[in-house]
Amino acid sequence: MKTPICSFDARTGVLCPKCDAKLKSGQLSDADIQVSIKLTKASEKNQEISKINLVKAEQVDQDYLLVLEPGSLAPLRRDPSLQKSLQVILGGKVWLTEADTTDKKALEDLFFPVRIANVNTAWLPDGSKLTKVVIPGRKTERFPHDTTMIGKILQESRGMDLMVEFERQ
Ligand SMILES: [Zn+2]
Repeated sequence: MKTPICSFDARTGVLCPKCDAKLKSGQLSDADIQVSIKLTKASEKNQEISKINLVKAEQVDQDYLLVLEPGSLAPLRRDPSLQKSLQVILGGKVWLTEADTTDKKALEDLFFPVRIANVNTAWLPDGSKLTKVVIPGRKTERFPHDTTMIGKILQESRGMDLMVEFERQ
């Protein structure tokens, strides 16, 4: 398991001078530290959690975005109970993505397990960029995500302005 803070700090819950300096300079956030400590504690009893390599964590309202090491998300998805365990450990809804990823891949990660039909980019007259995601079919009761929340997470984590459309109304 890797976390954005040293493993010693994550185990003891006390920051070393190096990590403390990173927190003060803004290189580390409070969410990075809290999530690292909670996951490290949980990893002692949960083998799946111990496989997580966390690059960074962000809190958006009551939800958490966990940014994992590139290429490490797909194997974790094979255990459908992992996301639920994470939500119990952190006490909020958990969204998973990877670091250094494209906008399209970040969208696929956040909408998972929902498939995305299409991603388009539009430039608005004021010069801002709008990313439009098209979801196949129509929105039903069973649609698992709060798309407003996904938009907020993408805005805060990537500065992306998101518009979600369903193929059929
Ligand atoms: Zn440290």
